[in-house]
Amino acid sequence: MGTAWNERRNEALMGGAILVVEDEPAIQELIAVNLEHAGHQVLRAANVPEAEALVREVLPDLVLLDWMLPGPPGVNFARQLRSDQRTKDIPIIMLTARAQEQDKIVGLESGADDYVTKPFSPRELLARIKAVMRRRAPQLTEDVVEVADLRLDPIAHRVSAAAGNIDLGPTEFRMLHFFMTHPERVYSRAQLLDEVWGDHVFVEERTVDVHIRRLRQALEPTEHDSLVETVRGTGYRFRRALA
Ligand code: CA
Repeated sequence: MGTAWNERRNEALMGGAILVVEDEPAIQELIAVNLEHAGHQVLRAANVPEAEALVREVLPDLVLLDWMLPGPPGVNFARQLRSDQRTKDIPIIMLTARAQEQDKIVGLESGADDYVTKPFSPRELLARIKAVMRRRAPQLTEDVVEVADLRLDPIAHRVSAAAGNIDLGPTEFRMLHFFMTHPERVYSRAQLLDEVWGDHVFVEERTVDVHIRRLRQALEPTEHDSLVETVRGTGYRFRRALA
């Protein structure tokens, strides 16, 4: 916890941290190597208790969960994640050798977002992860985002408008990326801390205001600063269009 993890998380943020819960060492290794190669940070667990311990420390951006595990089955862990306020929004992909329709239904009812049947190719798994993340956490994908003539390119780490490029610090960049992928919704300072800084980060809520101010300053030259709206008593909202 604390600084080391936050630094690691920031490094890994673009690809996202993935918790792999898989008891077969060869499969766990194959998955981990491929995910790391694709730019993800990988956390590994071989059973549900290990996975629980990891999640208490670190909130992953996605969980790959094997169905058949020694001890409690994967579906139990999926239900557990869904029933806890802190973990209920983590995307879950179930991995299983079972291909029966009934099992798929149980898996999806337990809260899984998708379902991959073994054997699968690493390429297929990565494609599924990307699809789930695009749906659940678009700020973690490398897709270019465009809102109100602002264009944010996560790979080039560049923000531009018709009037020219916009220089942003790393936190302002992540904040703008989150806002542009979640426009027209109000976020409290605590929610922004969770989404932009990450879970388990002990920063004061007024830090959010400091970075909002910097973001507005950076957006001022191209007159996009008014997209960042203060919602009195609640937090902030990013507008889809200039007023
Ligand atoms: Ca297994």
